Amino acid sequence: MITEKKYIRPQTIDEAIHVAHDHHHSFRYIAGGTDVMVNKFQGTDETNCLIDISGLDELKEISVEGNALKIGSLVRLDDLKKNEIIQKNFPALIEAAHSVASPMLRKTATIGGNLLCENRCSFFNQSDWWRESVGYCLKCEGDVCIATGGTKACFSKFVSDTAPVLISVNALLETIDRDGTKIFSLENIYTGDGIAPRNLPGTSIIRHIILPLHQPCRTIFKKLRPREAVDFTSLTTAVTVNESGKIKIVLGGVDPKPVVIEGILNGSSEEYIKMAMKKSRVVDNDFYSRSYRREMIRVFLEQSFEELKK
Ligand SMILES: Cc1cc2nc3c(=O)[nH]c(=O)nc-3n(C[C@H](O)[C@H](O)[C@H](O)COP(=O)(O)OP(=O)(O)OC[C@H]3O[C@@H](n4cnc5c(N)ncnc54)[C@H](O)[C@@H]3O)c2cc1C
Ligand code: SF4
Repeated sequence: MITEKKYIRPQTIDEAIHVAHDHHHSFRYIAGGTDVMVNKFQGTDETNCLIDISGLDELKEISVEGNALKIGSLVRLDDLKKNEIIQKNFPALIEAAHSVASPMLRKTATIGGNLLCENRCSFFNQSDWWRESVGYCLKCEGDVCIATGGTKACFSKFVSDTAPVLISVNALLETIDRDGTKIFSLENIYTGDGIAPRNLPGTSIIRHIILPLHQPCRTIFKKLRPREAVDFTSLTTAVTVNESGKIKIVLGGVDPKPVVIEGILNGSSEEYIKMAMKKSRVVDNDFYSRSYRREMIRVFLEQSFEELKK
């Protein structure tokens, strides 16, 4: 049976949501398309309908409302650095966005798409031919996780590079769906299940990412990857400290969801480093070995705490 493939380009948010509900059984929103299209060509996304939201201009603005900065979900990663409020208040977000992929991809890729890009694993992000030859895995209808040999859980890596910085400064997400607008803590949309890594309803559109202004803090961002350009993360760290010494450590690339540790910095950071290493469910599904990535958590966090003292 040949299934009809559809591409729809709605003119308004309401129309996009309406079309999404009509195709709720098999559709995907597409913004910059830099994640979705690769997954389609590799056969790891088999949805039949693409709903292109890239023309929805109201999602492309950055504005201040009261004590909050609202970044439209379709703002391109490359454009974040042009905004003076982000430059002044959240320079680590610019650094994180600049670490994603390559210059050309960042001119297309959006921040909303970055927060929802698919988890990755070296045994899954392969051609269908490759995956078939190893007998598939839990994330693609096989019955065993090739990385761990287990049969119960998938540990595909959470790879968004902007999310750790955003979570470390307590970002919120404003979404819109048929039942209206909702606000979520960004941290809470990630499930920790490598097969279904997010719990946002599929038909919801991210409208804004909301950041608190007038709460001075400093963030140190770091990313481990084989090559400075193009490669996805093997470990991303963001450490934020505010004026009263409250710290929030967020790790990406070492667990199916962002690993978050919070506390008060009064003296040694060793306790927090140990907690971060213990909480990360790192498995051998990356270019670098599990043990190297675990050890690099310590190295990056020690360096971050040193830099925060300066
Ligand atoms: C070679 C290469 C290297 C890459 N390297 C990195 C990297 O280093 N770090 C990294 O984080 N990513 C990387 N990526 C992945 C990707 O480019 C980025 O994550 C990018 O930010 C995704 O944004 P997009 O707009 O292209 O998303 P899309 O591909 O358009 O969408 C991604 C997901 O988000 C959903 N979505 C998008 N916008 C919305 C919205 N407003 N509301 C609801 N759902 C939405 C889509 O339905 C889809 O599920 C890389 C990709 C490639 C091809
Ligand atoms: S972690 Fe295991 S189940 Fe998940 S994608 Fe990788 S091999 Fe497949």
